[in-house]
Amino acid sequence: MKPPAFAYHDPGTVEEACTLMATLDNARLLAGGQSMMPMLNMRFVMPDHLVDLGCIPALSAIEERPEGLRIGAMTRQRDLEHSAAVRARCPLLADAIQWVGHRQTRNRGTIGGSLCQLDPAAELPAVCAALDAVLTVQSARGVRTMPFQAFPAGYMTPSLEPDELLTAIELPDWPQGHGHGFVEFARRHGDYAVVLAAALLVVDAAGKITRASLTLGGIGPAPVRVAAVEQALVGQVASSALFRQATEACRALEAMEDVHAPASYRQQLAVVMSRRALDAALASIAQGGRATGAAGH
Ligand SMILES: Cc1cc2nc3c(=O)[nH]c(=O)nc-3n(C[C@H](O)[C@H](O)[C@H](O)COP(=O)(O)OP(=O)(O)OC[C@H]3O[C@@H](n4cnc5c(N)ncnc54)[C@H](O)[C@@H]3O)c2cc1C
Repeated sequence: MKPPAFAYHDPGTVEEACTLMATLDNARLLAGGQSMMPMLNMRFVMPDHLVDLGCIPALSAIEERPEGLRIGAMTRQRDLEHSAAVRARCPLLADAIQWVGHRQTRNRGTIGGSLCQLDPAAELPAVCAALDAVLTVQSARGVRTMPFQAFPAGYMTPSLEPDELLTAIELPDWPQGHGHGFVEFARRHGDYAVVLAAALLVVDAAGKITRASLTLGGIGPAPVRVAAVEQALVGQVASSALFRQATEACRALEAMEDVHAPASYRQQLAVVMSRRALDAALASIAQGGRATGAAGH
């Protein structure tokens, strides 16, 4: 299959890219191309102009800041996988990235492309939801930031204007020694998840949970933070029995239905994946909160 004809542009700065997006008719951005090229070849999208962000070095950096990591939108998924800063400061991301596609797709695919593609079962949007990431967006009209929770506008639709670029993702630190767990159920190695779960826990010296974050992917059109479970956990002594009891609430979540699985199957998976993610988060505290590389692809 061949893509439709388009004019190719390779700006060298974010400003040039913004000007192109503000002035060209029917233009689309190209990041790693791992979703865009198939969409072009299948003619799901037919742009007149393709603006490649691959020649803008300023968009590819993993910056360590006092409050957390700042990651350029064009940072390749493989660079995240190999980053010592990501492993040390954001072990949830270090574990989740290994579930994203295959080594070959991670070599090209970017964090920004994955967020903008916003597949409901994608790993990186779920990590951003779990961590309350803050996104920076730029256009010829200026720069704005938004919490990740405000980013999904609908099914596979980010709340970006057609001329806007996602430029950076800020991932706030969780306290040193926090627990993290990332698990997913997929039909084959490298597939998108049917359902995935990401969990973060802070536990005090007495074993009580002082902070909890639980996110599910593959359930709804965008990642879902399960506030009912988070609230049920805080103040309780962390244990598998507690997680088993609290995660039953996931069965009541509204779930998607598609060719891969009916809603009831996803609800059952939501319960099981949530429990396993919380168990993994608790176990990781005992191991010093390090990334596990659990997917092992
Ligand atoms: C075989 C295969 C298996 C895969 N498995 C998985 C998987 O298990 N999990 C998973 O999450 N993903 C998976 N993917 C998708 C992969 O992660 C892609 O990297 C990702 O979906 C898109 O990232 P990209 O950088 O390639 O973006 P592109 O494909 O270049 O772009 C994707 C979309 O985002 C827009 N866009 C890109 N960057 C920006 C930006 N900075 N600002 C605004 N808009 C932008 C583009 O215009 C386009 O609409 C798989 C892909 C393949 C080919």
